[in-house]
Amino acid sequence: MAVSDTVRTVTILGSTGSVGTNTIDLIKRSPERFDVDTLTGNSNVELLAQQAVEVGARHAVVADETLYGALKEALSGSRIEAAAGRGALIAAAQRPSDWVMASIVGAAGLAPTLEAVRRGAIVGLANKECLVSAGALFSGEVSAAGARLVPVDSEHSAIYQVFDFERPERIERIVLTASGGPFRERSRDSLTEITPEEAVAHPNWSMGAKISVDSATMMNKGLELIEAYHLFPVPGDKIDILVHPQSVIHSMVEYVDASVLAQLGTPDMRTPIAYALAWPDRMPTPSPRLKLEDIATLTFEAPDPVRFPALRLARDALNTGGSAPTVLNAANEIAVFAFLQRKLKFLDIPRVVEECIAALGRQNLDTLDDVIAIDTEARRHAQALCEKIAL
Ligand code: NAD
Ligand code: MG
Repeated sequence: MAVSDTVRTVTILGSTGSVGTNTIDLIKRSPERFDVDTLTGNSNVELLAQQAVEVGARHAVVADETLYGALKEALSGSRIEAAAGRGALIAAAQRPSDWVMASIVGAAGLAPTLEAVRRGAIVGLANKECLVSAGALFSGEVSAAGARLVPVDSEHSAIYQVFDFERPERIERIVLTASGGPFRERSRDSLTEITPEEAVAHPNWSMGAKISVDSATMMNKGLELIEAYHLFPVPGDKIDILVHPQSVIHSMVEYVDASVLAQLGTPDMRTPIAYALAWPDRMPTPSPRLKLEDIATLTFEAPDPVRFPALRLARDALNTGGSAPTVLNAANEIAVFAFLQRKLKFLDIPRVVEECIAALGRQNLDTLDDVIAIDTEARRHAQALCEKIAL
């Protein structure tokens, strides 16, 4: 039977976020293709319950266990089962389904995503932080379980679509494109008093607060460099970053014969989400169609490592290996959160990350418990640094 003739059972980890709501939007437009088993959210029980009713989910899980009563209340009158707490989130990922969207933000997504991986699901991977944090150990679990990761990050979706996995030795390099974020043309001095509102206002993409700040510091591209290293069999020094402010070319793969293959589209996350949702088939989306004649000009420039030190920090962490990417990710999450709470200045985000990596040094990561221990230690250290630096 062709894949398009089958109904895919779906779990969405993080359905109430930006990627999650776009995924729900696509499922509602093609209900004949999907049977939604479970939706999860952190705290927005009203939206979670509404989504669960709209797509006919069987289970809804809120990670904050104090909200069990509120979720139950919001679902009253439906036959949808409510559950709450970290254990329920893990159980949601373990419940059988063909396809799992991993769209929880940050390292909090690691444990549930791993559960989906371990039961061999097809995982639409939006949560780049879990791959950055757990790296080769995460990939090892994917191979051991025979799971399939289909990237949702637009750049990695683009590469996945043009990458010859049968002949990776024929690939000369990968070019990850970057919009450059909202401060691409600003001087470094003018970035000192940036507010959270300015930082989350991305010029091309509408996304959650954390990734929007990461795009503004360009740490997002640094995390994506490490993500690409783990998703595609190419060495880190063959992954380049190119600023392309229009976000039309979503990334490129250059072959040994100098051919460059790229995937293009308007900047609408529903396109890469649909690619993962339907993989290996394709499904329609309402994403605006690309009209190059209207855009007329595509521009490119090299990234500026002086104004955006996060790129250098991420590349160094990738080269250092071991625990360095885990610390980079954990320290960045803490610093971004402090910035969003107005407890840290914008330019101090990479500073906290750099000082944290220098202070903690490199350790080997032999088990996932090592990852969790180092992640916890790095968060504690970064928190103390944020308090010391404070405004
Ligand atoms: P978001 O903040 O909008 O949504 C995050 C989701 O995770 C929400 O459903 C929230 O309830 C849930 N969540 C947050 N903390 C949690 C916790 N501790 N436990 C359980 N659930 C928790 O984020 P987003 O923009 O949708 O991004 C999600 C992930 O996808 C991130 O890793 C991001 O880097 C990646 N990504 C996002 C986009 C985008 O367009 N938004 C693009 C590429 C990659
Ligand atoms: Mg991206």
